[in-house]
Amino acid sequence: MTEATHLAGKDEKRQSYNLNKLQKKLRRNVGNAIADFNMIEEGDKVMVCLSGGKDSYTLLDILLNLRLNAPIHFDIVAVNLDQKQPGFPAHILPEYLQRIGVEYRIVEENTYGIVKEKIPEGKTTCSLCSRLRRGILYRTATELGASKIALGHHRDDMLETLFLNMFYGGKLKSMPPKLMSDDGKQILIRPLAYCREKDIAKYSAAKGFPIIPCNLCGSQPNLQRQVVKEMLQKWDRQYPGRIETMFSAMQNIVPSHLCDGRLFDFKNIRRGQLPEGVEGDIAFDKEILPTQSQLPADEENSALFGDEGLIRIKEVG
Ligand code: SF4
Repeated sequence: MTEATHLAGKDEKRQSYNLNKLQKKLRRNVGNAIADFNMIEEGDKVMVCLSGGKDSYTLLDILLNLRLNAPIHFDIVAVNLDQKQPGFPAHILPEYLQRIGVEYRIVEENTYGIVKEKIPEGKTTCSLCSRLRRGILYRTATELGASKIALGHHRDDMLETLFLNMFYGGKLKSMPPKLMSDDGKQILIRPLAYCREKDIAKYSAAKGFPIIPCNLCGSQPNLQRQVVKEMLQKWDRQYPGRIETMFSAMQNIVPSHLCDGRLFDFKNIRRGQLPEGVEGDIAFDKEILPTQSQLPADEENSALFGDEGLIRIKEVG
């Protein structure tokens, strides 16, 4: 064996080891999300929405993989909506789905034509397009007898949505891992809720999924989402761990320490015993927040650090 063949063999082994590790991680994340939110139950028929992008390919692949050893029985049907965008390579998904041997349906609806006809040139088409697509997918789920609709949104989509809603919508709201459709007839699940986009991107590249470009409709990308995405990516590079902490915060909400009177009965706070599960206030205490390594090191923020590298919040009142 030549030196070059030997090195190529080693490289191949390392790549396959990395792919296995990544697959295990994604499987673990998806399995945990499914269990935490009771996303899939015995006898479910899960309709996986497949757009041809990295997220939905990964979702389908991991769900099929998990099903092999799942303690419950559930069916999977992949669905793609061919929206008749110019240049849509209609053969790619059927070929892929036949090759992996999964039940599937391709739904052909010219939503592209409707959107072009209804929306004046230069205006954003996404809102009507998404509404039409949602209706078609709900209808398809009913026709197929699916009990769950699985979408490929991941943890980074959820965080981006949280910030978008705060910045532009005035709401503390994200994408839930599981929800009821607006007509009350379908249950939507997001099994990739605990998965990082960069793991999905690496997995998709390593698996060589036949990606279909997502700009065929010619619509501009959502600039606000792009800005938020870049902000989060920058934080992730500069302050490792911050994304994880923010996602934990989404699972650790304290309504008595926000200011929505519909979630917490502030009006009836009385002296006496604290209601069960409600934190008392520590407004007069110095609250200790995380260490410097988790916090920005720029000039403005470093001024807040005390000698021990801790932030101390000023006393209130
Ligand atoms: S980017 Fe194009 S296909 Fe996607 S929602 Fe917007 S209009 Fe529809």
